[in-house]
Amino acid sequence: MDHFQHYIGGAFSDGAARFDSVDPATGQVWATMPEARAEDVNAAVDAAEAAFYCAEWASMTATARGKLLYRLADLLADNAARLAELETRDTGKIIRETSAQIAYVAEYYRYYAGLADKIEGAHLPIDKPDMDVWLRREPIGVVAAVVPWNSQLFLSAVKIGPALAAGCTMVVKASEEGPAPMLEFARIFDQAGFPPGVLNVITGFGPECGSVLTRHPKIDHVAFTGGPETARHVVRNSAENLASTSLELGGKSPFIVFEDADIESAVNAQISGIFAASGQSCVAGSRLVVSNKIKSAFLARLKEKAQVIAIGAPDDMATEVGPLCTKRQCETAQDLVDASVAVGAELVVGGQALDREGFYFPPTILDCSNAPDAPCLTNEFFGPVLSVTGFDTEAEALAIANDTAFGLASGVFTKDLTRAHRMIRGIRAGIVWVNTYRAVSPIAPFGGHGLSGHGREGGMQAALDYTKVKAVWLRT
Ligand code: NAD
Repeated sequence: MDHFQHYIGGAFSDGAARFDSVDPATGQVWATMPEARAEDVNAAVDAAEAAFYCAEWASMTATARGKLLYRLADLLADNAARLAELETRDTGKIIRETSAQIAYVAEYYRYYAGLADKIEGAHLPIDKPDMDVWLRREPIGVVAAVVPWNSQLFLSAVKIGPALAAGCTMVVKASEEGPAPMLEFARIFDQAGFPPGVLNVITGFGPECGSVLTRHPKIDHVAFTGGPETARHVVRNSAENLASTSLELGGKSPFIVFEDADIESAVNAQISGIFAASGQSCVAGSRLVVSNKIKSAFLARLKEKAQVIAIGAPDDMATEVGPLCTKRQCETAQDLVDASVAVGAELVVGGQALDREGFYFPPTILDCSNAPDAPCLTNEFFGPVLSVTGFDTEAEALAIANDTAFGLASGVFTKDLTRAHRMIRGIRAGIVWVNTYRAVSPIAPFGGHGLSGHGREGGMQAALDYTKVKAVWLRT
């Protein structure tokens, strides 16, 4: 059985306890993981605090920090195959997605490597001739990053990259579901040459390890990605020390298709928009809002495509939809589909968990045109389930799109650019993709509002968010 370890203060350790990790494709235990209890969390935070004040890190130039991040990016690219393999094994995410994602994870580190020495302060032209006043941008301090199991290498990169570029130190808590890629990442990080303790990687269960970490008095900032309910715990925990937070939470993103859209392109974008990562993605385009003028034709084409999606073993390059990460995830998807059908949603395709080993749920489409109260329209599924609503007018499309407590992503498909601009202005979400879906870049900020959280990852702003400003007054 594979054996993974924590990374604390530049050393590897087994953790106060251990737990088993299950392969979602088989339902069988395949590896043993360290489980952080309070003593491990405290050791990791102490190591991060010591590293923050150690001369080697505190006086390292920004350019030198950038060079270390470049080295890390190169090491990740060299080890891409192993990392992708482990993420697939431990979370069930298909190998073609984990392999592609590792390539852009390395790009995010390169982007923040380049930004490290471009985080600038400012000189203030105050109205006093004998005073020189300027702002220094200093690292915010010791950061706790808590990540979910889906896309952990990516969701940690958008925290580790800017935080280390800014000069912070960190404790990253990998999800207890599928921590293997993060623990392997720590082995690779160790070779990049950062001073010990600058980054510490632990894993363990939310209510114990996550809680102790996020309420730790030495933590200055908590960067959290996960569900809104967990976020409430995290905010309450961090409030004890008044630590700042950034929250990247869930979504129920509308995918709006007007009658003049390029139908084939919209169908393809909708298929990958909802079924990529088996729907376990915060930006999944999980609510199709489609013009009634094309609804039947559009659904017919979607059904055709959904029916031929290759469902299979996640480590097979031919597989397009793999298992869900956990048995619980599969059961939740089934419950939500059943509850939606019970209130009038019509099954277009799929809808029944597969009767085979592992946690497989097929691509599913539910037409909710006659079921406005179907829970699938409001609850985040985190499964391959698309809910559909038709509309007659642009105003109706916008109202349906905004009828959600989330506000993360959205898609608009139309050839009418003036209409596209009206939709861009009207949609309440952190991201609007027009005639495309799921496009990402390290340069573009990513995040939402409402139940989707606050703060942005990606871009220069994310690096600035890991700094605090010091005003300096010098009488001359
Ligand atoms: P989750 O909220 O259950 O867990 C996320 C992390 O929080 C895990 O590491 C978990 O151990 C930890 N945690 C749990 N309880 C805790 C507590 N009391 N204190 C501190 N930490 C605690 O989420 P999940 O099921 O692993 O992931 C799915 C969720 O993540 C979905 O809602 C999804 O939309 C969201 N997500 C958001 C983004 C984004 O960028 N906006 C990206 C991916 C996933």
